[in-house]
Amino acid sequence: MTALLADEVADRLRRVRERVAAACASADRDPGEVTVVAVTKTHPPEAAQAAVDAGCMDLGENRVQEWQAKAPLVDGARWHLVGPVQTNKVRHVVGHGLLLHACDRSDLVADIGRRAVRAGVVQDVLVQVNVGADPAKHGCDPDEVAALLDLAAGTDGIRVLGLMTVPPLPGPDVDANRATRPHFARLRALRDAHAPTHPDLHHLSMGMTADLEAAVAEGATLVRLGTAIFGPRQSGPWRPTT
Ligand SMILES: *Cc1c(COP(=O)(O)O)cnc(C)c1O
Repeated sequence: MTALLADEVADRLRRVRERVAAACASADRDPGEVTVVAVTKTHPPEAAQAAVDAGCMDLGENRVQEWQAKAPLVDGARWHLVGPVQTNKVRHVVGHGLLLHACDRSDLVADIGRRAVRAGVVQDVLVQVNVGADPAKHGCDPDEVAALLDLAAGTDGIRVLGLMTVPPLPGPDVDANRATRPHFARLRALRDAHAPTHPDLHHLSMGMTADLEAAVAEGATLVRLGTAIFGPRQSGPWRPTT
């Protein structure tokens, strides 16, 4: 990546931090409570490195293969897997210091725990909840959260640090911040309901480029931003050219 493009990532990141700061000010929150996860999917490792060099250490990928290809080429990042984990990929992601945002089924809890115990680690995850009951989205139903949290609490090798959601995509003429806010409020209410019995349950991973303000207003601690930082996505996953 040329210096110019790295400068552009740094510039965009500066504007993103301003948006987060403004949203925090409106919500009377400390900006230090909100971590920006720069979602690098489809973008080359040079763009990811530019984000880290500009002070954004938390990077996210939504596909295991793309993370595997890119992560070794980026220094100093803390990686988040924000997309689904297929059962056959569990062994590739456990024990690498990733935060897994999309744990949404009991068999995944069990598999992750088993692999983590074998590796001698505790794997941190978030439970993804489909708060909008959107058939196109991953995540468990809101009424399954209690059972998943209890299962994880009784499973060695896994620790649930919070909840995550991807709300339904609002139509083109709709203000995304307005459309998504009730869904974010719902995730927060679930976290607040279960935190007394699950003390590790702290994070709310919610908010993307179009609706970061609504998410921060409802208590997001991790906002997952791709387009705002790296510009429009490329046509497909980034692959090393060999
Ligand atoms: C791609 C992606 C994002 C980032 O989306 P933008 O709208 O580009 O900010 C956030 N979360 C998940 C799960 C994603 O796959």
